[in-house]
Amino acid sequence: MTRYFCHEHPDTLVLETRVVNARPGAVILERSPFHPGGGGQLADRGVLRWSGGEVRVVGIEGTGEGFWHLLAEPVELAGAVETAVDADFRSMMAQLHTDTHILNALVFRDFAGALVTGAQLNADGTARMDFDLPDADNDRLRALEPEINDVIRQDLPVRYAYVTEADALAERGLVRNRSVAPPPAADGTIRVVEIVGLDRQACGGTHLASTRGSGPLRILKIDNKGRHNRRVKIGLAGPSGG
Ligand SMILES: [Zn+2]
Repeated sequence: MTRYFCHEHPDTLVLETRVVNARPGAVILERSPFHPGGGGQLADRGVLRWSGGEVRVVGIEGTGEGFWHLLAEPVELAGAVETAVDADFRSMMAQLHTDTHILNALVFRDFAGALVTGAQLNADGTARMDFDLPDADNDRLRALEPEINDVIRQDLPVRYAYVTEADALAERGLVRNRSVAPPPAADGTIRVVEIVGLDRQACGGTHLASTRGSGPLRILKIDNKGRHNRRVKIGLAGPSGG
């Protein structure tokens, strides 16, 4: 994994750049503000504009060549373009993603270091997280909803750091899900997301600058998945979400 442009410049959603590789309906860009997805997060959506018009970016495909931006029409582009990330979609992903960290932190704290076994964010403003919780009382999990919203209202800042892989693995709870944690960058470091005062974990996704940026969160459903796993479905409520 390289450090994404959006990691360094999370507020830059519109960017002038160049096409460096193209096929009908797809381009690789010199620089891109799009998050490519991964770790349960969906890729950014948006548009690409050039002298001849505008086309929607409907997906990102990571390959050894780079990130192919998949276009809604089979146009073949070259030269200078402007890209614009869909701000509403990015905002929703960042809210949901930050809220999954809050949920994860509270579960980790209250349920003896329970680990995440999977996570998926959805385009409809909902997400699910699976936890390894063999004997958990689902009512205790449900009772986390007001506490999650309390953390949101406390407006805790979100910060980033890069640590070595060895340090990341040595810090208890930092890599809470090996399938979701980002691989080290080219320089061997891992990106750590800190919700100050609450939680630190390895993650390559997009997040809010502080927790108050999230709308209220609901715990929608808790399912038992096999003997060990609990699947917690959450969703944004109110004006910021679905
Ligand atoms: Zn994250």
